[in-house]
Amino acid sequence: MTKAGSDIDTRPSGAKRPYIDRVSAKELDDWFAKRGYPAYRRRQLASWLERQVTETRHMTDLPLALRTELEADFRFDHLEILRRQESADGETVKYLVALDERHQVETVSLRYRHGHSVCVSSQSGCRMGCTFCASSRRGFGRDLRAAEMLAQLRLAAEDRGERVSHVVLMGIGEPFDNYEETLDFIRRANAPEGFGIGARHITVSTVGLVPEIRRFANEGLAANLAVSLHAADDTVRRRLLPVARRYSLDELMAACRYYLTKTSRRLSYEYALFQNVNDQPAAADELASLLRGQRCHVNLIPANPVPGSDLTPSDPKRIERFRQRLEERHITVTVRRSLGGDIEAACGQLRRDAGS
Ligand code: SAH
Repeated sequence: MTKAGSDIDTRPSGAKRPYIDRVSAKELDDWFAKRGYPAYRRRQLASWLERQVTETRHMTDLPLALRTELEADFRFDHLEILRRQESADGETVKYLVALDERHQVETVSLRYRHGHSVCVSSQSGCRMGCTFCASSRRGFGRDLRAAEMLAQLRLAAEDRGERVSHVVLMGIGEPFDNYEETLDFIRRANAPEGFGIGARHITVSTVGLVPEIRRFANEGLAANLAVSLHAADDTVRRRLLPVARRYSLDELMAACRYYLTKTSRRLSYEYALFQNVNDQPAAADELASLLRGQRCHVNLIPANPVPGSDLTPSDPKRIERFRQRLEERHITVTVRRSLGGDIEAACGQLRRDAGS
């Protein structure tokens, strides 16, 4: 089954053309042979595809006529930057990217002393409906293809003139709601012939989809997993994350323990702090006892304001108190540095279009 819009061909010919990276080598050989192109042309195309490039504008060694012919028979990706915003300190750049005529996403590039980290969107819009996150506001558009996620890395690397060293799947969308393409993306970003980004430098964040956490545990990947917890109490969690009505904390914790046992890795929990909702001392105690004995790390997120939400971000004093209380209870905890707030590029502020 295809999801809304993902398979609609909006290009003029209207015919269903296969995506270039899904075409078999044999078919491509035949295509080139039939048109009388020399074999090296076929090899040039293959070399782009091996390097995970599926946009013709990058295939500069192919003559324009050949590119046009290819485009008539196959589908290529066409990511285009519609808007570029840079934070005052120059560290963060946010791109509004068009995937096709109807769908857009945002991608964030964070460049600092120790590397270049790209926050990748996995879906245009989101189905999870988290009350404090702008990405859900306008509903769901479509899933991204792995190639479109890779293209986000490429455009950030190109624009910033620096190779991507870290990837976080924390942009728009729920990566595990687009599981196959997300996994394909991670493998290709990691592949030495692709971007060669170490698996340990790739982090996927999930709202807490239980079956997919278990599935991910079985993939044998060394990528990091972050789980959006935001509350250690089912009632509070359901208020913040509608998905918590589908999976209780008991079920979620069982899946997380499975992941820890299966992978021998560490797990990150994300916890955004909202005043008097999930930031009380008792909430810290509850969180500490929920996670007791787990090989994990808690990442506290100073909540970012999202217009239209009735939740108030916790003030810095309360964040510090919460952090201390967890630490006293022997939980490894850090507070996430918020970047790009002035261009609405921080957690929960990304949208699927330029509107409000
Ligand atoms: N769908 C994935 C990725 C979301 S973005 C997930 O749910 O994990 C990464 C993190 O930002 C998530 O933990 C998300 O809950 C958090 N986030 C969303 N809106 C936020 C906001 N307004 N303030 C702080 N964090 C927010």
